[in-house]
Amino acid sequence: MPKAYWISEYHAIHDEAALAAYASWPERSRGRRVPEAAAPDRNAFQRDRDRIVHSTAFRRLVYKTQVFLNHEGDLFRTRLTHSLEVAQLARSMARGLGLHEDLVEALALAHDLGHTPFGHAGQDALNACMKGHGGFEHNLQSLRVVDVLEQRYPQFDGLNLSFETREGILKHCSMRVARHMEALEPHGVAHRFVVGYQASLEAQLCNLADEIAYNAHDVDDGVRSGLITLDQLMDLSLVRHFHDEAVREHPGLPAMGRRRLLSEVLRRMLSAQVHDLMGTTRARLAHARPADAWQARQGPALVGFSAPMRAAITELKRFLFRALYRHEQVLAQTQRGKAVVHDLFNVYAQRPSEMPAEYAQRPDTQRAVADYVAGMTDRFAVREHERLTGRRLFG
Ligand code: MG
Repeated sequence: MPKAYWISEYHAIHDEAALAAYASWPERSRGRRVPEAAAPDRNAFQRDRDRIVHSTAFRRLVYKTQVFLNHEGDLFRTRLTHSLEVAQLARSMARGLGLHEDLVEALALAHDLGHTPFGHAGQDALNACMKGHGGFEHNLQSLRVVDVLEQRYPQFDGLNLSFETREGILKHCSMRVARHMEALEPHGVAHRFVVGYQASLEAQLCNLADEIAYNAHDVDDGVRSGLITLDQLMDLSLVRHFHDEAVREHPGLPAMGRRRLLSEVLRRMLSAQVHDLMGTTRARLAHARPADAWQARQGPALVGFSAPMRAAITELKRFLFRALYRHEQVLAQTQRGKAVVHDLFNVYAQRPSEMPAEYAQRPDTQRAVADYVAGMTDRFAVREHERLTGRRLFG
């Protein structure tokens, strides 16, 4: 390779890595709820990221369901590997867009901390149990984990993260909840839902990286599990396009096995979504010319896909919903997961002393039970369920 190639590539990377005016700058952070001296060698968002990685809730993600239950196979994604894939995608796009890589990484690694065992089924069951007691929502719970539930520091509950990280974790919020949170923390993390301005560009990016990641890996895991087939996928415009392109460039590929073919199709789909998002977002930024991070949040969202790519992604999501998330085998597992969560909730609510003391002694029993159950890994929930009910719902 000629030397000039490397030099020009180096400059391109170097230029792209420069933090843009519209990025979230840690020096301009609104700070932490409990003031702390700056760390000597790390910016505020790096420090947030590090605190998230060292948290108990983060370690538990390895044993929490994404779509397939953790014990169903060693090759399926768990919430931990999902979070790492989101962080990888979000970081590389942030670098290209001049956004703050440490903030997007912190957001990506924290975005699923509030998930219950058994994926969305667990959340639905817990929400039903908490009806009349404020409900349960995994995204609010992620914030609760970093604000309250982690107990590792002498000076404060939670991880005492920067405002920007906390705000970015709160992805969605009903008006009722937003007003309630705003009353507790005026001009706080829920303020944007009350007043109506966008999330930071880093948070917008992280949300879309999440979507890119799970669409791709759910297809991968879905095929690996045998619940969906490549033939079914060929009805989707994105899959068909990149399948045909890959086979055109590598005519021998179909003979090399379905797994390699699928990996290549998924790799191309992923790259296409990343490039589309980067191109669309760059064009919107060039048009809007936000002077700083605050200005970038007024008006419509600036991070996004082109309309054709959005349509293709919607088609893929509809397919996954129909063919995978609603597959009878997945539903049978989720029904059992719901039953476990439901039974655990009822037993602990009636006999709080079955929980560890720090939960059992709390005056708000229902919320304490929800926090305790939400924090469980799939396998711990199954074991506890068996201990408390004598029934074994998973093999
Ligand atoms: Mg996610």
